Amino acid sequence: MADLLNGLKRTDMCNDFSIADAGRKAVVFGWVQRRRSLGSLIFVDVRDRSGLVQVVFDQTTDGAVFEKAEKLRSEYVVAVEGTVRERASKTNKIATGDVEILAEDLRILSESDTTPFEILDNVNVNDALRLKYRYLDLRRPTLQRNLIMRNEIAKATRAYLDSLGFIEVETPILGKSTPEGARDYLVPSRIHPGEFYALPQSPQLYKQLLMIAGFDRYYQIAKCFRDEDLRANRQPEFTQIDIEMSFVERIEDVTYPIEGLIKNVFKSTIGLDLGEGHFRNMTYKNAMENYGTDKPDTRFDMKIVNVTDVFKDTEFKVFQDAMNVKIGPIRGSIRAINFKGGAAKLSRKDLDGVVEFAKTLGAKGLCWLTVSETGEVKSSFNKFLTSENVEGLKKACGLKNGDALFIASDKDYVVFNTLGGVRLMLAEKFSLIDHDVYDVLWITEFPMFEWSEEENRYMAVHHPFTAPMDEDLELCSTDPSKARAKAYDLVINGQEAGGGSIRIHSRDIQKRMFNILGFSDEDIQTKFGFFVDAFNYGAPPHGGLAFGLDRLTMLLTKDDSIRDVIAFPKVQTASCLMSQAPSPVEDKQLDELGIKIK
Ligand code: ASP
Repeated sequence: MADLLNGLKRTDMCNDFSIADAGRKAVVFGWVQRRRSLGSLIFVDVRDRSGLVQVVFDQTTDGAVFEKAEKLRSEYVVAVEGTVRERASKTNKIATGDVEILAEDLRILSESDTTPFEILDNVNVNDALRLKYRYLDLRRPTLQRNLIMRNEIAKATRAYLDSLGFIEVETPILGKSTPEGARDYLVPSRIHPGEFYALPQSPQLYKQLLMIAGFDRYYQIAKCFRDEDLRANRQPEFTQIDIEMSFVERIEDVTYPIEGLIKNVFKSTIGLDLGEGHFRNMTYKNAMENYGTDKPDTRFDMKIVNVTDVFKDTEFKVFQDAMNVKIGPIRGSIRAINFKGGAAKLSRKDLDGVVEFAKTLGAKGLCWLTVSETGEVKSSFNKFLTSENVEGLKKACGLKNGDALFIASDKDYVVFNTLGGVRLMLAEKFSLIDHDVYDVLWITEFPMFEWSEEENRYMAVHHPFTAPMDEDLELCSTDPSKARAKAYDLVINGQEAGGGSIRIHSRDIQKRMFNILGFSDEDIQTKFGFFVDAFNYGAPPHGGLAFGLDRLTMLLTKDDSIRDVIAFPKVQTASCLMSQAPSPVEDKQLDELGIKIK
């Protein structure tokens, strides 16, 4: 192997050639994208991670080299030495389409079997095959570009945070359960049979302890693990850009430097200035009421309108039931979205399709109402619809001729989830979103607690270490559902890119919060004893947040699939089709761990 390259040094990456290079020598290393033979000429596109360049083998230039080139097949690994020259038939299909390299020497560094699929971006192969041969899939330009982008984001993040005096600290992977609320991945301990480590759902507790330890400004590009049934675009392991800082008390103390980080990342990766208008503040309440979600896509309008009053005298039982909901702090309502100009776009079948879609979001049903261009009203609840109702809807929703209205009625959270989802579905289906723009906003004033119908108690919306807003401290005890948190999410194009909070740093308040959440003193001690004890020894005011690196990469590469921004992703069943993980282990290994499989 030693003399395969025989001292040959790469001069350029394949994508780096332009007409200005014509006449000079060059050496490139890469893979054969394809070979075409034309009599005494052989054309080979050589690919490396930067792109492609055409190499020409001319029988009349060097017969021996030409003969070697005849052996080339797709995905052979080669080193080529030659002279750059202007291409006779230029192409703009590849970035180096003005030039080619006339080969003078060729080394075949490695041969390749026929690959199970062609290494092309738009090749039509099923996902399972791609993931089984992930190392081949990763040769595709898009995936190369995505991982390079991911690296750019990480690099820009490190440079920016470093410039502000943040230091990167690693926290344990083998740790104790954290309070993010998902299921832990557990690792059995051999030395302590019957005991388990938990893989971190986030470095939350450790980063707060680092603040107590005096590190002041911490960050980490951290692997996190959550053992959940995978929804689309979730992975059991994912990466956070995790940040924490001391001596911060107000939300702006954290959001301001983070805006700088995000601006920097956008600028240095895609060259985009996030200027005026970005990083607006929207309260959680506004987000929910207008968009039905705490991660609103604000690139298009179609806001939700509360039309409960319009139907206060209705005979329609479904609407009446919604108005009468009273479960703990949960209430019900009737709300609508107006798809402007939707009447002509939606066939009867489409309307039924929207209703069916709403059911997948947890709605029992969905009403619709259309007004034709000539003013004729049709609806799915004609029997109960009065002319006063129609007038009321016109006023409340700006309903005009040609519009289509969708009306949901249920518990508030069901209504929000339904209309929020229908809104997005309509936007996608009817191309209402300009995919070329970004919209970045902060969501603030999240509720501290939410009522769990299942557990019949309050749960922390963020996590139990989030501080309440100063003015809502008392509400935490008197009316927890109304208390707001010093928490914030960064939402980009309707995706939660990151989130965090100012933390509680007072022992007493922390204890109060735990009590509201129903933790006994004993629970607190066994679950977070090491953590709460630390607050007895001088905890600075602190706060932070975490970004999903995977999500951020998807936003910047405009990719829809989280798999496309992770080198070796898992599938929906949390397994890796390439390595076959997870897999059974030997009995001896189980014995050592004191484990018996049921
Ligand atoms: N640990 C939190 C999370 O993973 C983020 C934070 O509060 O900093 O969502």
